[in-house]
Amino acid sequence: ISKLGVLTSGGDAPGMNPCIRAVVRTGIYSGLNVVGIRKGYQGLIENDMYDMNPRSVSNILNLGGTILKTARCLPFRTDEGMETAYQNLKEQGIDALVVIGGDGTFTGALRFSKKYPDIKVMGVPGTIDNDLYGSTYTLGFDTATNTVVEAIDKIRDTADAHDRLFFIEVMGRDSGAIALRAGVCCGAEAILLPEKATAIDDLIENLRAGQHNKKSSSIVIVAEGDKNGGVYDIARRVQNEIKVYDIKVTILGHLQRGGSPSAFDRVLGSRLGYAAVKALLNGHTQKMVGLQANNIKITSLEEALTQHEFKLEQDLMEMADILSI
Ligand code: ATP
Repeated sequence: ISKLGVLTSGGDAPGMNPCIRAVVRTGIYSGLNVVGIRKGYQGLIENDMYDMNPRSVSNILNLGGTILKTARCLPFRTDEGMETAYQNLKEQGIDALVVIGGDGTFTGALRFSKKYPDIKVMGVPGTIDNDLYGSTYTLGFDTATNTVVEAIDKIRDTADAHDRLFFIEVMGRDSGAIALRAGVCCGAEAILLPEKATAIDDLIENLRAGQHNKKSSSIVIVAEGDKNGGVYDIARRVQNEIKVYDIKVTILGHLQRGGSPSAFDRVLGSRLGYAAVKALLNGHTQKMVGLQANNIKITSLEEALTQHEFKLEQDLMEMADILSI
């Protein structure tokens, strides 16, 4: 390979910038020309790209979001969109791509590279949801979890002062990873996850037991993807049964995506970016780099996209219930 493109796609995640920096500098150090592609696959189709040098990525390790910007790009799903992207890449002389994003991004990269195998592709898992096969941690998950913990600690102060019951919705449409970790960190009285059905009757019983045990406040963390009908509906059903508590609902929303990447995400982003370029130089394509047992692992995109392991730690789920009595 001689000219490398790098893009971020799908939802942004803290840690993408350290990863871009690592890709750019490792590429240039290895003698490659490196091109930044703006707004994910949209930049490929609109030919929105620029040459990068080591100074293009100065002072970005501490920045949240992504300097390359990101987008959800519908035209890239069509054959015509892919053809335009390919022609633009050929025109620029780009023969390899590092794509940083989630499973949608990987699906697009694999389809594209199967159609046009002369463009080598390497994926880096970047999504706060931590829901990708092939890497124990994805970029942004650690920072997002820390942000959630900081917010819930503050809510706990006011909940405790007023003897309140708070329902807090956190991000995770298909994954309870943030909810579970944050629940352990904040001593949540209950954690509602898409991966594990919780009956509202059981939740009510659990909260009543807390009252009986003289808890002065209670926090229930609800992952977006929980199947009980949304955080407001759950709160209303509980309020009908438990009248003593003053019930409040907080949706943390997009603040969970922002902020300076944690030390963990800066190291992970740097490591994965470096490994992605090395893997391309070693001839790999249609693969992703990930971290497993603290080692870099290369997994084929095909495998990453078809395997769906149950990633939430069973011991954390059991422990969270026991430690909140
Ligand atoms: P997150 O996990 O944060 O949502 P993601 O990478 O899964 O990130 P998506 O919006 O699902 O986010 O996908 C990102 C982009 O990848 C899409 O906007 C689209 O351009 C491309 N993409 C997704 N699925 C396909 C597909 N089947 N074919 C071609 N391109 C796709």
